This record gives sequence, C-alpha cells and structure tokens, in this order.
Amino acid sequence: MVKIRPNEISRIIRQQIEKYNQEVKVVNVGTVLQVGDGIARIYGLEKVMAGELVEFEEGTIGIALNLEADNVGVVLMGDGLSLQEGASVKATGKIAQIPVGESYLGRVVDALARPIDGKGEILTTKTRLIESPAPGIISRRSVYEPLQTGLVAIDAMIPIGRGQRELIIGDRQTGKTAVATDTILNQKGENVVCVYVAIGQKASSVAQIVTTLEQRGAMEYTIVVAENADSPATLQYLAPYTGAALAEYFMYSGRHTLVIYDDLSKQAQAYRQMSLLLRRPPGREAFPGDVFYLHSRLLERAAKLSNELGEGSMTALPIVETQAGDVSAYIPTNVISITDGQVFLSADIFNSGMRPAINVGISVSRVGSAAQIKAMKQVAGKLKLELAQFAELEAFSQFASDLDQATQNQLARGTRLRELLKQSQASPLIVADQVATIYTGINGYLDDIEVGSVKSFLIGLREYINTTKPNFKEIISSTKTFTPEAESILKNCILEYKKTFVKI
Ligand code: ATP
Ligand code: MG
Repeated sequence: MVKIRPNEISRIIRQQIEKYNQEVKVVNVGTVLQVGDGIARIYGLEKVMAGELVEFEEGTIGIALNLEADNVGVVLMGDGLSLQEGASVKATGKIAQIPVGESYLGRVVDALARPIDGKGEILTTKTRLIESPAPGIISRRSVYEPLQTGLVAIDAMIPIGRGQRELIIGDRQTGKTAVATDTILNQKGENVVCVYVAIGQKASSVAQIVTTLEQRGAMEYTIVVAENADSPATLQYLAPYTGAALAEYFMYSGRHTLVIYDDLSKQAQAYRQMSLLLRRPPGREAFPGDVFYLHSRLLERAAKLSNELGEGSMTALPIVETQAGDVSAYIPTNVISITDGQVFLSADIFNSGMRPAINVGISVSRVGSAAQIKAMKQVAGKLKLELAQFAELEAFSQFASDLDQATQNQLARGTRLRELLKQSQASPLIVADQVATIYTGINGYLDDIEVGSVKSFLIGLREYINTTKPNFKEIISSTKTFTPEAESILKNCILEYKKTFVKI
C-alpha cells in the first residue's frame, strides 16, 4: 500500500505558492481600420508613443506617426500588400533602432540596416536608436581640423573642417555626387569612416558608385545606406537617420566620420508624400509644416565632440538639388540656413567645360581657414584674391577693344588659374600636391604655357616632384607648413620640369 505523506505534499504546495509570482502583461493591441498607399489607420493602440514601432499580425513593421483622438496613423516599412482590414496590431514598446558596429564597414544596407549586398549576415551585438538627440553645446568643441576633399577649388577656397556641415547644392547633373564620392576616395589612409546615404536614386547609379568605391579600395572604410527610387517613401525618409546612427557609433568611440546624404530633396519629397497620405495639413510647396525640423534634427547630429567625449567627429555633406539654380525654393533655403556653408555647383559652368563646376563666388564655408593646414593657408589666400579680381576684370574687358599690357597679363594669369582648378572625376589630390599646384599658378610659372596644356603640365609636374623629390611631400605632411626649404625644392622642380616640358 502506498503511504501518503501529507507533510511532504503540503510542503511542496506551500513552496509552489510562495514561488508563484503573478505577472500581468498588458499588451497594447489595436485593429486595422483602413490600409493603403503605405499608410494604415489603427483603432485602439491607446498607449502607443509617437515614433513607436508597431507590429502587424502578418509580420509587417510600422511606425506610429499620427496620434489622433480616435485613431493612430501608422506608416508601413514595406509594401504591406498582404495586410487586411481588421488585422490586429501590437505596439512593441520600442522606438525604432538598428544594429550598429565595426562589422558594418564595407557593407551596403537598407534603411533598417539590413544587408542588401548579398554578402551574408552582419554580426554585431550593439544597437542605437535611429533618431537620437544631437550632442549639446558642452559636448562639443569648435571645428579646427581639415577634412580634405581632394578638390583644389574646395580645399583652397571653401575649406571644410571635421565636424562641419557643408551643403553641396546645384541643378541636376552638375556633378554633386561626384564631389561627394571624390571626397570619400580622398579619405583613404586618413582614418575617417565614411557613410554614403543614397536616397531615391536609380539602383544602377548606386551600383556604379559602390563599384567605383570597391575598385579604389574605399569600401574598406565606407558603409553605403541605400533606399532607391522604388522603395517605399517611409524607408527613403528613414535612410538618412539610419546613416547618422551608423556614423554616431564611430563618432562616440572617438573616430572621425563623414556622412553624405544624397540627396535631401528626395527625402523631403518622400516625407511630403507620407504626410499628405496621413492627411497632415500641407504648407508651402505642399510640404508639411515640420519639414524644417526634418532636416535640422538630422544635421544637428553632425558634431566635433569635446575632449572628454573622445574628440570624435561627424562631418555632414548633405546634397540638395535645385531647379534652374533657384536657391530660394523652400528646401534649399531651409538647408542653407541649417548648414555651415555651401558648395554651389552651376549648370552654366558645367556646360562651359569647367569641372568640377563650382561657382566659387557664391560658395562659402563659415568655418573658413580654421580648417586649413598652414601650408595651404600660405598659398590659398592669394589664389582666391586673384580669381576674384580676374572674374571682375573678365566681365569688364568684354566691352573693351584694346587692352593695355598689364590687363592682358592679368587676364592671361586668371585664365590659367581657372584652368588649374579643373580636375577629372575620381582623381582627388593630396595636400602637398595641391600646394604645389597652387604655388605654380599664383607665381606666374604657368603664364607662358598654353591654356590647353596647363592641365597636362600640372599632372606631369606633380609626377615629377613625387618621383624626383619625395621629401617635398614629407616636409608638408610632417610640418604642415610650406617651409622655405619646401619652397626652394618646389621652385627647382618647376624650373627643371619646365625645360623638359617645353621641349616635348
Ligand atoms: P544627379 O542630379 O543626377 O544626381 P549629379 O549632380 O549628382 O547628378 P553627377 O552624377 O555627379 O551629377 O555628375 C554628372 C555627370 O558629370 C556624370 O556623368 C559625371 O561623370 C560627370 N562629372 C562629374 N564631375 C566630373 C568631373 N570632375 N570631370 C568630368 N566629369 C564629371
Ligand atoms: Mg547625384
């Protein structure tokens, strides 16, 4: 017979009761009222936060953007084609976040940081919120180190510093993307992590850029975030914030980063589409009222961090497209007012054969020469002055029939200086080469060279210096100064090379 031991049984029951811990979990659930055009209206979801991620029963993720009295407007991240009216929706309690980390270098991802380059999963354990507040005043220090673009016209006259926000603005097909990608190529060996965010572009253009970066070994330090023209507006809207979050990870670990948003006009259009579908009131150019905040909260995240925070930096190069050079349209004026200067590319200059087609007269950098090394400052001031005088004189001399010798000389010099600023795509120059190029021009060594041969002369000269006098480059990179020694080396090189060049 089995003996029942009541003591033991009651002890076990008592233990179980003690361990019992009632866990009440309230899941915030709602129902789809209406769905279409990438937008869903939800009934219920009373406790949802603005910007919170919600999950539909068939797996689609959305972001709650409009919190209204009787319903919640959610934008879908994905097409949501299988979503039906009456489906249930769950709030996740999380604001949108993405994984971040070192393993992202060299990869192409979408706006949710998922790989789209077919190179497999990205392994990392760290995450960041897609939208995070910009560092405050105490966390920052002023911009003082240069971020070299490799383009003479920019580095000499519109210098960009690490932590600065410089807008690249111009009509379509004026070389905006080329300036940005050349800058990425020029960061090779500079220990700068680059993030290129492509918004609403053709998939083929993005593929072309990735191929160039790969061929030139620039993908090693670059992350590409791409949401092409056929992606849902939501994802195009999110992509820049994702790019910023990926860069922030590196910035807060004390590294230098460069983020390119190509382009913010398309992001604003995606946001306008979302807002109109959500029935937010349209304002100027049918953009919603908070379109300024769309870009200011993004660009404020660029910073040069203080000493205590590790001195990391995020330089932002947003790109904006204009229509027929109109910088007074809504989005261009907004972004001009947020950034620390702009590089203006003009279609007329592009068509006249000047590439990069930078309009130096109306381009500015509010950081200025604080972001130039001494050697560059020593030569760049004169270049800017001479070009400005030349532009004035050129306009003036069109009416004059016979010009005196001095004016003719000045015009000849100016034409050659302008020629000196021409650079082919994907051929950025290091600082020492730039200094040598500018020095040659402003000291009149190009005056007796035919305008058509200036470009090839300079290419040959730089090659000659680098092969015969490699210590010129060393002096500039170690002392950052154009020392008298460097000057005499350079002068000799120019004179020597000129003899051989003229002979050819
Ligand atoms: P979109 O408005 O289509 O984005 P964009 O302003 O970004 O155009 P890019 O695509 O960079 O312009 O350049 C337009 C064309 O000009 C391209 O064919 C490019 O190869 C050419 N180009 C750009 N920069 C240079 C350069 N420095 N030298 C020669 N060609 C250039
Ligand atoms: Mg472009």
